[in-house]
This record gives sequence, structure tokens and C-alpha cells, in this order.
Amino acid sequence: MTAEVNDALEWKGMMAEKWNGKSVYQLNQKKERINNLDAAIGELSRLRHEAESAYLEELGRIIERDPGSIRVGNWECEKSPNKRCIYNMAIAEYDECLFCGGPAERK
Ligand SMILES: [Zn+2]
Repeated sequence: MTAEVNDALEWKGMMAEKWNGKSVYQLNQKKERINNLDAAIGELSRLRHEAESAYLEELGRIIERDPGSIRVGNWECEKSPNKRCIYNMAIAEYDECLFCGGPAERK
């Protein structure tokens, strides 16, 4: 049996599948769409994580810090290269922006 014949038989089987006499084909198609979107969201999330890591690598290179030791805050900071306060996460008690000295509660 060729793959095409197999696919055609599977499609006929899906079309014929019924619940209380009603076709569930459209229902299954809609569920498959949700599953495909979930897979796409997972892939986008992975790509987003990669982009974030690349961004922190580049920022770390510019400010000469280990990218794993820094955290970018949400506060605007005129003195930092990305215009956001940046904190040193390597030292727990060091809770001021590396550039403007802004306090920890901004993190
Ligand atoms: Zn700052």
C-alpha cells in the first residue's frame, strides 16, 4: 500500500467518524488547529528565549560583564547603554544600578 493510498484511507476514516450520527470531522480539525497553534507558541517561546540570551550576551560584551550575572530592570536610565537600569545579580547584597545607582526596589 502506497503512502498516498494510506493517507486517502485515513482521511476517509476521519470523515466517516461519527458521534450520535453526527460527523466529528470538523471538531477534530478544529482541535488539530489548536494543537498546531500550541506547537507554534512553543517554538516562538523557544526562539524568544534564544533572542533574549543573544541580547544579554551582547549587552554583557558591551558593559564587560558576565551576561548571566546581570539583570535589566524596567526603569529608564540615561547612563546605561540600553537606557534601562542594569543590576549585578552575582552579588546578592549589591542592589543598585551599575550605572546610575538606582535602588533595588526598582528591580
Ligand atoms: Zn540606572
